[in-house]
Amino acid sequence: MKRSAELFDRARGVLPGGVNSPVRAFRAVGGTPFFVARAEGPRLTDVDGKSYLDYVCSWGPLILGHAHPAVLEAIRAAAARGWSYGAPCEAEVQLAELVRRRMPSVEMMRFVNSGTEATMAAVRLARAATKRDVILKFVGCYHGHGDSFLVKAGSGVATLGLPDSPGVPGALASLTVTVPFNDVAAVEDVFRQRPQQIAAVIVEPYVGNAGFIAPDAEFHPALRALCDRTGALLIFDEVMTGFRVAPGGAQERLGVRPDLTTLGKIIGGGMPVGAYGGRADLMRLIAPEGPVYQAGTLSGNPVAMAAGLATLGETSRPGFYETLEERTARLVAGIGDAARRHGVPVTVGHAGSLWGVYFTAGPVRDFAQAQRSDTALFARWHGAALERGVFLAPSAFEAGFVSSAHTDADIAHTVTALDAALAQALGR
Ligand code: PMP
Repeated sequence: MKRSAELFDRARGVLPGGVNSPVRAFRAVGGTPFFVARAEGPRLTDVDGKSYLDYVCSWGPLILGHAHPAVLEAIRAAAARGWSYGAPCEAEVQLAELVRRRMPSVEMMRFVNSGTEATMAAVRLARAATKRDVILKFVGCYHGHGDSFLVKAGSGVATLGLPDSPGVPGALASLTVTVPFNDVAAVEDVFRQRPQQIAAVIVEPYVGNAGFIAPDAEFHPALRALCDRTGALLIFDEVMTGFRVAPGGAQERLGVRPDLTTLGKIIGGGMPVGAYGGRADLMRLIAPEGPVYQAGTLSGNPVAMAAGLATLGETSRPGFYETLEERTARLVAGIGDAARRHGVPVTVGHAGSLWGVYFTAGPVRDFAQAQRSDTALFARWHGAALERGVFLAPSAFEAGFVSSAHTDADIAHTVTALDAALAQALGR
């Protein structure tokens, strides 16, 4: 850890907390983060030469693992043709058509550069389309760092236990109403209290930013029906779940059609891409077709589009999602079995290759229940896993990811290593 420690020291002089995204700083688990020298397949190698099986996968984009040859070749070929045009290119049309084939509710879309941009734009569009201002979100869900979403947010906000962020005007925050995930009655209450005011309900269909929380079977159909009845729009934030939990995302897996969808991560294959899209009548309100303004110097970037096309292309192979889900199921079952053997209360879950573990008896249906998990034990487990060359997300409130580069042998090795790490964390 010598070189990582030196770099972290230098980083803290020029980057707040030494990082460019808060959770990377390991505050929730202690210790200093390792600095990455290179990555290939399921592994990261740090600047001190230690290698880790990676279950963060760049926080979701790398469903094929690191430096996948097909994506690498697509990036190389695209870059050789120039890497930013400020004018349209064919790859934008190809990727949009591919997304629409896989996710038919996304009839039209706009590419942006991050998930945050996608959700900010989707909410602006929803407000414009409905001529209403209030947004309903769920406690512990994270929709990027836009002002309207830093209200009871998940991800780094939850990890660091921050109050809602200073710098967000109270007047704006008051337009975001929050209720517990999986709580249909609470959603109904909000609609009763604020009739004709709710522009949109935005939701992570499977929560991946508070650990992993699955929806009850009736939750999303109820949201859909409530939105239909009241004229609010239903926005699925599939930045994390899109092309991750099923070929057509959570909306396919759950059989619910949102009005708008936000995307990111996998559609850029690890390059900076986001997108928002949905009903064509809504998307036609976006400039230059309509009056709702949203733009981007680097949006639809040809190298990023090429990486997304290559990544989605690989995931279209027969059996891709089945194999990935099967491996993920084995991983979480292994972790759950080990915890029970050690007498540790545990709740594990997964959808496709998105997974999570809480050290609490459960059930975990919302963020308040997630917060009952033993975060101190998680922190010790995380550190012991790192020592054994397994990189888990450095927070009890972040999901894990498995990639197609993780082999059966990698999974088996991980289950054994995490079992030993838990014993160490328990002082046994
Ligand atoms: N929405 C969800 C569901 C996310 O998981 C994230 C990022 N983890 C975002 C939005 C924000 O995306 P980005 O970090 O690319 O801005």
